[in-house]
Amino acid sequence: MTASLTDLTLKDARAKLRAREISSTELTQAYLDAVARYRDWNAFITETPEKALAMADASDRKLAVGEGGPMEGLPIGMKDLFCTAGTRTTAGSHILDGFTPPYESTVSGKLWAAGAVCLGKTNMDEFAMGSSNITSYRGPVASPWTKRAENKPLVPGGSSGGSAAAVAGRLCVAATGTDTGGSIRQPAAFAGICGVKPTYGRCSRFGIVAFASSLDQAGAMARTVEDCAIMLEAMAGFDPHDSTSADLPVPDWTAACAKPVRGLKIGIPKEYRVEGMDPEIDAVWQGGIDWLKAEGCEIKDISLPHTKYALPTYYIIAPAEASSNLARYDGMRYGLRVPGRNLVETYGKTRGEGFGVEVQRRVLIGTYVLSAGYYDAYYLKAQKVRRLISDDFLKAFEDVDLILTPTAPSAAFREGDKMDDPVAMYLNDVFTVPSSLAGLPAMSVPGGLNGDGLPLGLHLIGKPWDEATVFAGAAALERAADFDVVPYGLERAA
Ligand code: GLN
Repeated sequence: MTASLTDLTLKDARAKLRAREISSTELTQAYLDAVARYRDWNAFITETPEKALAMADASDRKLAVGEGGPMEGLPIGMKDLFCTAGTRTTAGSHILDGFTPPYESTVSGKLWAAGAVCLGKTNMDEFAMGSSNITSYRGPVASPWTKRAENKPLVPGGSSGGSAAAVAGRLCVAATGTDTGGSIRQPAAFAGICGVKPTYGRCSRFGIVAFASSLDQAGAMARTVEDCAIMLEAMAGFDPHDSTSADLPVPDWTAACAKPVRGLKIGIPKEYRVEGMDPEIDAVWQGGIDWLKAEGCEIKDISLPHTKYALPTYYIIAPAEASSNLARYDGMRYGLRVPGRNLVETYGKTRGEGFGVEVQRRVLIGTYVLSAGYYDAYYLKAQKVRRLISDDFLKAFEDVDLILTPTAPSAAFREGDKMDDPVAMYLNDVFTVPSSLAGLPAMSVPGGLNGDGLPLGLHLIGKPWDEATVFAGAAALERAADFDVVPYGLERAA
């Protein structure tokens, strides 16, 4: 019974809750048991079982009288980057030790208001900087996936690695993620689940611990495209507390998932056929192209000429903004304080011990590219190139409705791999970063397995504010891929 409850999709669980076939308390307990059972994956930084059961009970009371919101009674994981009032929020960092936010992020608040049940805060790369969840101060996350033939731990991707592992491993029905350069889409691809990053400005950033403010966006991670649509509807919407939040109505994305894709024009960017590309990635990409063609889409070759500058541009802009955002962690107002003999020494010790190696690297790069002597050469130049990258997309979207690419250049890798070479790690985001710089909506859906039996993702990029077409295309890919492989690390109770 327990195993089958946690196998339900969000949509099916919701239908059963509404029909009173199951209770939220029952469903929540099944997930809490799963979380406890697979604790060695380290998917959660903070578990909130009492809160979860209290929320489930409140949901059951509403459901009993036919009331409740669109997420009523559904147990989710909340990435530990979202401030949750009264519940510890660490952003995967030592420097936020002891921080319990006095307020709620807009997105998490909307989800609770919609009836979602909080199982806990999911693990993540420190301050969302990383692609494998190995920079978390709380330790790495093990993916529920292993290669089919060997039982060695693999990374779940990052930075929303805890959310990805928890969703794939049936520890929650869905989870939030945030995406600055790929942190929803790349872990979704590694974990064989779906992940959507909406247009920049769709979801409020208020109360999300800031990494790179001009790039950060919240999104949904779940096992199906429609589950992501249902959840994203509950997360999105205008918020006066975020000056970059868009004052636009939230469309019916759930309905968009059922829209036919016949006649849609799909762009295939030639610049994404990178040199030395893994033939298995290429094959999944070609599979996606063939599926959409079979559904009646028109496939068009397109060019995004500035693609090769996207990663270098991102690794100037994101660290620059991070260095500024992270200046607030000085040990004075909240979080960790490591006392020195005077104020300056206290700052230095707190930041030296509180930030991990990757975060320190970003702060150093960021302060360097913003420094008086180098600002024009790096930061200003990067801003100009960012505009060119964005213009490439807008030009391409004059001829096509969606762009299809692979999500990541490889499948999940071993925990120790790429650790000593930051640039190799940064290459994980080669296909996701350009759309982040352009602020576009994008989604990863499972496209199939590689020869080792590991999931590979397909990535759809849409026009600004056109998540609806992204959902329609993603649902078409999902139908064709018919991906229903359960991670091998998940023992299935009879
Ligand atoms: N891997 C990228 C980075 O480390 C993206 C992270 C993210 O999207 N938060 O910056």
